[in-house]
Amino acid sequence: MDKKDSVSRRDLIKTGGVVAATVAATSLLPNEAEAKKKKKKKGGKTPRWAMVVDLRKCIGCRGCCIADKAEYGAALGRYNTVVKNVEYGKYPTPEKHFLPRLCNHCAGDPSKEWQVPPCVEICPEAKSGERMKLGKAKYRTGATYKRPDGMILIDPQYCIGCYKCVDACPYGVRSVDPNVKLTKDNREKDVGVGKCTFCRHRVDGGITTSCTNTCQGKARNFGDLNDPKSKVAKLAKEFKLLENKDKSTLLPNEKTEPHVFYIDPDGVLVEYNKKLSKETKFAEFKSAFE
Ligand code: SF4
Repeated sequence: MDKKDSVSRRDLIKTGGVVAATVAATSLLPNEAEAKKKKKKKGGKTPRWAMVVDLRKCIGCRGCCIADKAEYGAALGRYNTVVKNVEYGKYPTPEKHFLPRLCNHCAGDPSKEWQVPPCVEICPEAKSGERMKLGKAKYRTGATYKRPDGMILIDPQYCIGCYKCVDACPYGVRSVDPNVKLTKDNREKDVGVGKCTFCRHRVDGGITTSCTNTCQGKARNFGDLNDPKSKVAKLAKEFKLLENKDKSTLLPNEKTEPHVFYIDPDGVLVEYNKKLSKETKFAEFKSAFE
């Protein structure tokens, strides 16, 4: 395990319980049975995983996009994370910034009884899976579902390929993935859907997300918002990210409660939000290099 991994351990490991200090960044994905065994330590607070992206530090290298592709073997033309060029202003003071994007692992509208993001809300198979526990918290898996630690995940064994979640996500981060084979008897399509998983397999094993690990500018920070000593919690406090979600998250009017936050002193999100709409969302997530 390299230094970067060990430094980020405080931010990471709450779900692991039995955290393998020797898990290497290149380790194979834990299988489902193995992942199920990994429970949160008794008595501890359930983590709330989040990412804080410091837009002052992104150098636009797209190393994160490539690391993610390598991690997931994402199909040609598919990305789980992209970095957008955001340009605004006029001569003689034009500005260009880089905006990393990924699934926001949204908490969902807090005013609703079932607080889940639109992708989970619309999924006809959102509750078709198994009853599970994470620490003391209980939940049910499904084709797409929210874990108590905030991860929004997809389980292809329950997915019927209706693709409603793809349309429901206002951010356009979900796309059909020819590498995801569906097997459910009543399926509508044979291939499923892909998106960022917050590297569940790595985080459950005690290492940070692949994109964070590779980030040369140290723009990406991943960790537990519920741990006041974690870097993401400290950044959230310092930059008042939770108090000012209209300035620290994408499409705040959608009431999705994203858990990818941005440190954005230059107002990049305001400019980009003007461009992100139902009509443009898929095109915006199609290329990592524009
Ligand atoms: Fe769901 Fe889209 Fe939010 Fe991710 S960004 S949790 S896919 S609504």
